[in-house]
Amino acid sequence: MAERRRPSVAVIGAGPAGLAAALAAADRGVHVLLVDSGREPGGQFHRQPAPGLGARSPRRLHHGWRAWERLRDGLAAQSATGRIAHLMDHHVWFAGRESGGFAVRALLGAGQTESVTVRADAVLLATGGYERVLPFPGWTLPGVVTAGGAQAMLKGGLVLPGRRVVVAGTGALLLPVATGLAAAGAEVAALVESAAPAAFARQARALAAEPAKLVEGAGYATRLLGRRIRPMFRHTVVAAHGGRRQRLDSVTVAALDAAGRERPGTRRRVACDTLAVGHGILPHTDLAETLGCRLTGHAVQADDEQRTTVPGVWAAGEATGVGGAGLALAEGHIAGCSLAARLRGAEPDPRAWAAAGRARARLRRFSAALDEVYVPLTPPPESIPDDTVVCRCEEVTAGAVREAAGPLGAGDLRTVKLLTRAGMGWCQGRMCAPGVAAVAGCPPDPARRPFARPVPLGVLADGDD
Ligand SMILES: Cc1cc2nc3c(=O)[nH]c(=O)nc-3n(C[C@H](O)[C@H](O)[C@H](O)COP(=O)(O)OP(=O)(O)OC[C@H]3O[C@@H](n4cnc5c(N)ncnc54)[C@H](O)[C@@H]3O)c2cc1C
Repeated sequence: MAERRRPSVAVIGAGPAGLAAALAAADRGVHVLLVDSGREPGGQFHRQPAPGLGARSPRRLHHGWRAWERLRDGLAAQSATGRIAHLMDHHVWFAGRESGGFAVRALLGAGQTESVTVRADAVLLATGGYERVLPFPGWTLPGVVTAGGAQAMLKGGLVLPGRRVVVAGTGALLLPVATGLAAAGAEVAALVESAAPAAFARQARALAAEPAKLVEGAGYATRLLGRRIRPMFRHTVVAAHGGRRQRLDSVTVAALDAAGRERPGTRRRVACDTLAVGHGILPHTDLAETLGCRLTGHAVQADDEQRTTVPGVWAAGEATGVGGAGLALAEGHIAGCSLAARLRGAEPDPRAWAAAGRARARLRRFSAALDEVYVPLTPPPESIPDDTVVCRCEEVTAGAVREAAGPLGAGDLRTVKLLTRAGMGWCQGRMCAPGVAAVAGCPPDPARRPFARPVPLGVLADGDD
């Protein structure tokens, strides 16, 4: 009798969510094609140094190393059995339905001029999130990096972005970034957080319900205080200044009032050679939108089994809403169990993922409380001067956006883009959309893009791939 072909899933993203899903699905007999643009698995949270760097003790840069070891060892074991095919350095630019299954198209390697197609019966989107950065005068100077970018340099490249660093913006990510940079030898000149301490107090009960997270947060705070780094709450960086050769040499920090506006007379200058800045994280939804999945706000909508609104497509981790690595692991595990059952034509039994389901519920409540604390500021439009570049790919200034939204009457991001080219460059508005929306005074709606990343014309012209 002919053996039945094993069902297959293309898992896009090898962060905590994708790895947990891949292992759960492979353990249940599904053939997994794990596709990721990185050279090493791990995603953002478990970002690994390149093997060529010969890191002797990479765990010193990491939190949750045991969880990483379990994922890493599980992946190695399932790769050896052939149940998981691990396709790294594959940059997915398109996913769509094709002859009863799905085709996932990826550009290869650094050149990204060659595309391959991965075919599977189902798709799991575990593409994570990206940082939101809002514009201010000087934000395009050399020496200004995102908070996650600084973290990536440290964890992935084992380098410091500079010697004297200001970490600024808002969100839980700033704490590990400041702690990691300080532990690696950088002087953290200031940690500038726009959230107010009172917001933490208001959410105290909800936050206390997740003691492990509180211990993690307290650990960061203790290490920072041990180095005499005191967070400046309810403050923001209002300008970055260039010195010799237009490289960053200082930032201006100001206090904020309850409405998030700058308090007059509170400006002070802080000398630094690096500004690591981030204003929260947004989910990656390009591929979900290409596949036709419905979004809720900025996140991919998923049901209790982590199924999207498109049959055959699951989503897990930060693509479905930003909530940290623990939540990504729980969602990934649930998605893997669910899709393994459904690909065999069986109704999944939620008791199979009861513990992950409880963790998901708890961690979602925790992240909802954090969202109340770290409300990303929308800068008042007048705080961004006319000559500040807001779309750096196309070098569009705040003044040009203001003109489009004012005299020319543009009321949405798409019209602003058509009138000014803001969002028309390499990043296709992924980085600049929140800033352009803030200046134009229109909603920062997610854009619908046909492709998840820029694709060479030659690849499109090639037809099949
Ligand atoms: C820049 C940044 C830095 C962060 N640093 C930290 C930190 O230090 N500590 C912390 O607690 N939390 C950090 N976070 C939050 C962190 O992302 C989550 O807690 C956790 O990693 C989420 O897991 P995930 O699996 O959902 O996504 P991720 O870990 O982000 O994994 C998503 C994976 O999908 C891949 N991917 C995305 N799009 C494509 C595509 N089109 N083609 C191929 N592959 C693709 C990415 O390469 C990545 O490996 C960071 C977030 C960001 C955005």
